[in-house]
Amino acid sequence: MVDKQRVSLLKQEEIKATGPVVYWMSRDQRVHDNWALLYAIEQANMLNAPVLVVFALSNTFLGATSRHYAFMLEGLKEIEANLSVAGIAFELLTGDPIKTIPSYISQINSSLLVSDFDPLRIKKQWKDGVNSAINIPHHEVDAHNIVPCRVASQKTEFGAYTLRPKINRLLPQFLTDFPILQPPVNKSNSAGVDWQAIESWIDADKNVKPIEWIRPGEMAAQALLHYFIEKRLTGYSTRRNDPMANGQSNLSPYLHYGHISAQRVAIEVSKANVSNDDKSAFLEELIVRRELSDNFCHYNTNYDNTQGFHAWAKESHLVHSNDEREYLYSLSEFDQAKTHDDLWNAAQKEMITTGKMHGYMRMYWAKKILEWTQSPEQAMEFAIYLNDKYSLDGRDPNGYAGIAWSIGGVHDRAWGTRPVFGKIRYMNYNGCKRKFDVTKYTNRFAAK
Ligand SMILES: Cc1cc2nc3c(=O)[nH]c(=O)nc-3n(C[C@H](O)[C@H](O)[C@H](O)COP(=O)(O)OP(=O)(O)OC[C@H]3O[C@@H](n4cnc5c(N)ncnc54)[C@H](O)[C@@H]3O)c2cc1C
Repeated sequence: MVDKQRVSLLKQEEIKATGPVVYWMSRDQRVHDNWALLYAIEQANMLNAPVLVVFALSNTFLGATSRHYAFMLEGLKEIEANLSVAGIAFELLTGDPIKTIPSYISQINSSLLVSDFDPLRIKKQWKDGVNSAINIPHHEVDAHNIVPCRVASQKTEFGAYTLRPKINRLLPQFLTDFPILQPPVNKSNSAGVDWQAIESWIDADKNVKPIEWIRPGEMAAQALLHYFIEKRLTGYSTRRNDPMANGQSNLSPYLHYGHISAQRVAIEVSKANVSNDDKSAFLEELIVRRELSDNFCHYNTNYDNTQGFHAWAKESHLVHSNDEREYLYSLSEFDQAKTHDDLWNAAQKEMITTGKMHGYMRMYWAKKILEWTQSPEQAMEFAIYLNDKYSLDGRDPNGYAGIAWSIGGVHDRAWGTRPVFGKIRYMNYNGCKRKFDVTKYTNRFAAK
């Protein structure tokens, strides 16, 4: 049984209709290890109804480009195939979900709507819009977090140090293994998605090309997890901050699209035969830091602008608003990696060409945008635009939290005052030189 604490009743209604249970899949795009799908099947069996999975595809989504759509659509094709094996129909609806979901629900006389939790504003707006147009119950399942976001904490947390004990207390209840997916009692089937028609319908920026080095989908995600555990988890605690060491897992695109469950990753990593230092360093990022980002976006409605910063950071930015900026760049100069700083340009090119910037460089990259723009407001706007345009894992709570950490000291503390930065933690080129081989990193991307 799915833990009831994962489930929020977004719309409370009596179940009157007798039609299928609809799982509106959005953030958790996978068939296996998915609490929302398991819950939908459980409910369908209780109601003696079939279950259908529906994906509502919008042809513009927070600046997503053809890079993002290509990755997502390949994953959805695999989902359609895996669901069909389990006797579950998959439908892809195109257009505004606020219209397409209610209309589909009424067309098939659905009895219950199930969705997956997402802290981002646009998803909450979609769900509010859908709720006001339907008259069936809507249950939302947190299938993304190990400890459900609303259960872990009921307020914006100050930092990892305040969320960590809450999460650790609840992990024994929630970090359990998944049941094996049992096909529902009542089967459903669908005509099949016309993927070619869908691909030509999408209206995304085609200049940002799909990425070849990482294959989308559940199977590829599982394969990478096992490769990472076998080959790269040892040494993670020391190598993950070196952009030349290939020490990170590269799981973030899969976690972002939900191709893999963070809970599955945590279970497998916990079982691995590696040192406790490496395991706990990885689990700290995967569980505490990742769930802290969901906490930030869920409870702080200004997660993507400077109003979401702590009072000390807003005050400090104000004091330093007229500080002279040695360099100022336009969005297009940043975008084309045309700054005076070869290290920053290399990081930007890494993101443009690979769809993923190394985690350590992401901090330097965002902090320099603060240093070289007219205001923190502009810095937030530019950093979010560029991250979401090129990063495969962009448009994620981790991205908004990471950028707000770098530019606005969110989840951080006040540091000694410096020009432009004020009390925000500072990073510089020489600091990077002490940490890793900057020349090698720069040369790797210089010609791109
Ligand atoms: C300015 C800035 C922008 C960022 N933008 C994004 C983004 O768009 N999408 C994104 O997923 N992450 C983002 N991060 C967080 C972090 O850098 C990435 O999650 C990480 O580099 C992803 O690579 P990986 O999966 O190989 O990481 P690993 O080191 O292998 O970590 C495994 C997983 O742990 C989680 N994790 C790791 N570091 C962090 C962190 N600092 N905060 C929250 N969760 C973390 C992620 O889910 C990650 O996939 C950003 C950080 C900063 C400072």
